[in-house]
Amino acid sequence: MFKNLIGGEWVEGPRTTRNINPSDTRDVVGEYAQADAAQARQAVAAAQQAFGAWSLSTPQQRFDILDAAGTEILARRAALGDLLAREEGKTLPEAIGEVVRAGNIFKFFAGEALRTGGEVLPSVRPGVGVEVTREPVGVVGLITPWNFPIAIPAWKIAPALACGNTVVFKPAELVPGSAWALADILQRAGLPAGVFNLVMGRGVEVGQVLLDDPRVAAISFTGSVATGQRIAAACVARMAKFQLEMGGKNPMVVLDDADLDIAVAAALNSGFSSTGQRCTASSRLIVTDGIHDRFVAAMAERIASLKVDDARKAGTDIGPVVDQSQLEQDLEYLDIGRAEGARLLGGERIEHNADGAPGFYLRPALFTETTAAMRINREEIFGPVVSVMRAKNYDEALALANDSPFGLSAGIATSSLKHATHFKRHMQAGMVMVNLPTAGVDFHVPFGGRKGSSYGPREQGRYAAEFYTTVKTAYTQA
Ligand code: ADP
Repeated sequence: MFKNLIGGEWVEGPRTTRNINPSDTRDVVGEYAQADAAQARQAVAAAQQAFGAWSLSTPQQRFDILDAAGTEILARRAALGDLLAREEGKTLPEAIGEVVRAGNIFKFFAGEALRTGGEVLPSVRPGVGVEVTREPVGVVGLITPWNFPIAIPAWKIAPALACGNTVVFKPAELVPGSAWALADILQRAGLPAGVFNLVMGRGVEVGQVLLDDPRVAAISFTGSVATGQRIAAACVARMAKFQLEMGGKNPMVVLDDADLDIAVAAALNSGFSSTGQRCTASSRLIVTDGIHDRFVAAMAERIASLKVDDARKAGTDIGPVVDQSQLEQDLEYLDIGRAEGARLLGGERIEHNADGAPGFYLRPALFTETTAAMRINREEIFGPVVSVMRAKNYDEALALANDSPFGLSAGIATSSLKHATHFKRHMQAGMVMVNLPTAGVDFHVPFGGRKGSSYGPREQGRYAAEFYTTVKTAYTQA
């Protein structure tokens, strides 16, 4: 049984949960402890106790630990990738790629620990000096979703620790395996007791403690809009700092002058890799009239050849959906789209894979002849379901792309510098891609969105310090 990490000790919980492989639901990845509210509060207390010393730790100490963690993650990429693919269902190459990203993130923030600096300015008053410095915030609560079981925890934990905060980490219920492996690596990398605590457990119970406990100074969350709204309300009520990354309904515009191969490759990657279960996936393909039919035909042909199978089998293009309830949500949206009058290609439910194993398999689905008002074009589905909308020209395509409550990522396929430049400036999204998929971003630059997708400072890169530090302005008269 895999235990929680509280105050430097591995502790059992009052309950356990079974981690199930979505590629073969008979396969149990492991039995994991589930903390209750009392244990979550113990973890907060441990983090609070550890904060004083860790907040004054040297950049060298922080660098050594984060760098060691990054080194081990990279060295064990194959085994950690296999675990990730087994518990979450993305393909092995995708899972290994995610592990490498997590390792790189730890290395990056190891360096950031050394680079944290401030400013020295002259005062407007004679004989006075001004220093602007950054200090850690305190105990931070990190709440993460299931779709990136190691990379999202990495991009919250690494900057939090690099900036001198202590951490209580609550991973998603469905993917405790990668979270536990990360905790084990951090513990062995030499973190003092209580600096990093793992509390696996339910959102409404363990997560809620982090929201309500006055000792938790800041919450960084990635997950659904509904939970994000609850977190915002809870944090505002007690004036805690918070940062939210939520949904997306990311558009990809394909113009008449696009290179068809580039456009199709980008749309397939954005729409269906990780089984479409990415907040940066593009689920709205907005295609101008002159290329529309050729694009749809090419997409249909490529989709038909994609192999949906066990996530860990060589040659699999698309793994299963993560669990039964996500699968039901995907199937419900397929019904909604059909009822709204869209044409559906693919989207068949497959009960067993090629080896006869039962899993949550769904063939990629492409809706065509859709309109902006349809629910399938407004609501995040979070599965391998993509729709195509027609546009008369670039201006209409841009207007359709911006017609969404979300604003995380957006793409355009075009060979026109003029349109690419205009799109980069006028697309209301946190991230804009030209001739690239909307998903698959670098690890050293800011990540985040606008509108209903995100709230608070950006994550990743050096911008992450904005959330994980608080600024102090000191005046000195010599
Ligand atoms: P997803 O669709 O990714 O499961 P959720 O928002 O339900 O999105 O879950 C994201 C994370 O938020 C998970 O770790 C989950 O346990 C946690 N969570 C869910 N409900 C709450 C809550 N009321 N308070 C705090 N955390 C929560």
